[in-house]
Amino acid sequence: MIKATIVWFNKDLRLKDNLALIEAIASGNQIIPLFILDHRLKAMGGAQKWWLHHSLVELSESLIQRGSSLILRNGTPEAIISDIARTIQIDQIHWNQCYTPDVISRDQKFIQFCDQLGIQTNVHKGNLLFDPSDISTLKGEHYSVYTPFWNAIQKLQVEPNKPSPATLPPCPEMVSDNLSDWKLLPQANGWSENFKDWWRAGETAAQERLDLFLDESIDTYHKGRDLPGIDGTSCLSPYLHFGEISVRDVWHKVSLKRELTGLSDGCTTFLKELVWREFCAYLLFHNPRILNQNFRKEFDSFPWVQDSNHLQAWQKGKTGYPIIDAGMRQLWATGWMHNRVRMIVASFLTKNLLIHWRQGEEWFWDTLLDADQASNSANWQWVAGSGADAAPYFRIFNPILQSEKFDAKGDYIRRWVPELSHLSDKHIHAPFSQDPMVLKQGGVTLGQTYPFPIVDLSVTRARALAAYKTLKDV
Ligand code: FAD
Repeated sequence: MIKATIVWFNKDLRLKDNLALIEAIASGNQIIPLFILDHRLKAMGGAQKWWLHHSLVELSESLIQRGSSLILRNGTPEAIISDIARTIQIDQIHWNQCYTPDVISRDQKFIQFCDQLGIQTNVHKGNLLFDPSDISTLKGEHYSVYTPFWNAIQKLQVEPNKPSPATLPPCPEMVSDNLSDWKLLPQANGWSENFKDWWRAGETAAQERLDLFLDESIDTYHKGRDLPGIDGTSCLSPYLHFGEISVRDVWHKVSLKRELTGLSDGCTTFLKELVWREFCAYLLFHNPRILNQNFRKEFDSFPWVQDSNHLQAWQKGKTGYPIIDAGMRQLWATGWMHNRVRMIVASFLTKNLLIHWRQGEEWFWDTLLDADQASNSANWQWVAGSGADAAPYFRIFNPILQSEKFDAKGDYIRRWVPELSHLSDKHIHAPFSQDPMVLKQGGVTLGQTYPFPIVDLSVTRARALAAYKTLKDV
């Protein structure tokens, strides 16, 4: 019987700085690169499935170029390993740790299963800078506030990243599913067809994206990151989520850039954002219930409102508030939304519409290419006020003021809400407050070409503040 080592790919669809792959090669056995579609885990959203399909194509090609191939199997890891073990002697299995609650409990059972079969399991550090169990306060407690967490991280050393292997041992002959049979690409409507105009999945594209960002945007990132009308951010989030680029790799390249150029503001602000990602994963690891429950228990009695019409208007980008509509349409068209606008639309949903953050989180889960259990739930709770280290409850973004401040010339709105594109920079942020002549000149007829606002901002702000005051200890 052939003796082989399995490298089990999860959220690490890359060859560079892939510890599981490196250690699997060191075993000296034949290597089986395996990806398992496990339906017992939280179901992926539609946008993520699109990304995964293309990412697996890219990974498969990279493996073939190095003399190996990717085996795709659909089912539980236990069933698949049992099946492979009928014809191949599996010596070891290596994988990089994922830190979400569903994966952690699956892996614990799987390790016991492998122990019974006499297969050695090796779990390596995953797609974070540090293992969440390695970081605690001086008192041995978990952090729940970002700034001390960031300070703690700065005292630690991020491990050096490792190069990709130039060649790989061949993969033994075996059955693999056909990727197209997994039907990850949407079948029914054309949604996501245009994603390919905006994105290219895979490790090569991830590295190119990082290099471009380092060349063109990082020096002004501390200012540009808040302006949705420009390419001021890295757009690395889907690549980081699927592990097509190692976060250690990103960390070291940005740190080196800071060292060599002295561009401290942009680089440091960017590193802080990477640590927000880390903080979200850390919070979820230590508090698994926050996936769908309030971090702050007092929010359990919050008087959320059920309103499917308002929810739909928000989802479709038809609220009558241009910056909100631009953001929601960008999300639908590209599978991504700018961070500043994510905060504005989330504040509008949870505070002006008083709709539960979980309904926003679910919509983002289905439509974001970077949808990530930890970052999505933590950020939604942060905006809603129910999260750890959350935004203060009285911070209710005014979408018009936000729009005037961060999209002053209306470039972002014009791109995503073209029916308003002929309004001037001054008038584009709040069409409903403009003189009818101004609207006519801009080709806008409220209620026909563009909706009236679905709610009044000052009335809903007062309603939200009253609702927050019903909570104890906010
Ligand atoms: P950059 O500004 O270039 O930042 C670099 C990286 O830092 C990002 O790729 C991301 O990995 C990380 N990062 C930046 N900001 C945050 C943040 N606030 N929280 C966590 N990580 C951060 N991000 C996700 O990756 N997945 C999600 O599901 C997600 N849901 C969100 C929901 C809401 C309501 C809000 C307000 C934010 C959410 N974010 C989420 C965080 C943030 O909006 C995105 O990470 C960012 O917009 C991605 O764009 P970028 O790669 O250009 O970011």
